Amino acid sequence: MRKAASELLISIQLLGEEKKSFSFQEPANAFPVLAEMEKRGEGFFLSPIEIHLTLCRVGDLYRGEGRAATQVELQCGRCLEKFVFPLDVDLSLTFGRFSAVSEDSSEVSERELAEEDVSLIPFAGEELDLCEAVQEQFLMALPVRALCRGDCRGLCSYCGADLNRETCGCAEKDVNPKWRALAGLKIEDNIKK
Ligand SMILES: [Zn+2]
Ligand SMILES: [Zn+2]
Repeated sequence: MRKAASELLISIQLLGEEKKSFSFQEPANAFPVLAEMEKRGEGFFLSPIEIHLTLCRVGDLYRGEGRAATQVELQCGRCLEKFVFPLDVDLSLTFGRFSAVSEDSSEVSERELAEEDVSLIPFAGEELDLCEAVQEQFLMALPVRALCRGDCRGLCSYCGADLNRETCGCAEKDVNPKWRALAGLKIEDNIKK
């Protein structure tokens, strides 16, 4: 499962104090979370994920700066049309050794860490995992509610017409089937009994 993503594991042996450039082009299914998204039909990645970043060591930490981009096809939550959403995120990553992060779990050190850098990404072993970091950034950049455009008029809830393309006239006729049904009801005369 993780085979394809192994490209995105960067050995810290390669990194020194000088910034080193890395470029990757990976299919979406190299990212478990994105693959899962496709499987659930929540989005379809139209192009490979492009990642360009520089990495370097800063003391005990590793800093990554760059960008990750792709294009994802989403379905509009109002009109149900498919549309292309450009995902383009800045990467500003700081990796810290997991042991250093968790060793002293006293409240003080946790607070200090949080204040110092809220986005410290823990790593263990000799590799930095860009996969996790990138898919997390993508998830945050995806709209909570996908809309093809801000003012999408959606579908008519009575006849289903796409209101971006046509006017169905239901609104003018003011036909709310629910109320019409109620108006037609004969009130049973069982109160008098
Ligand atoms: Zn729409
Ligand atoms: Zn209608």
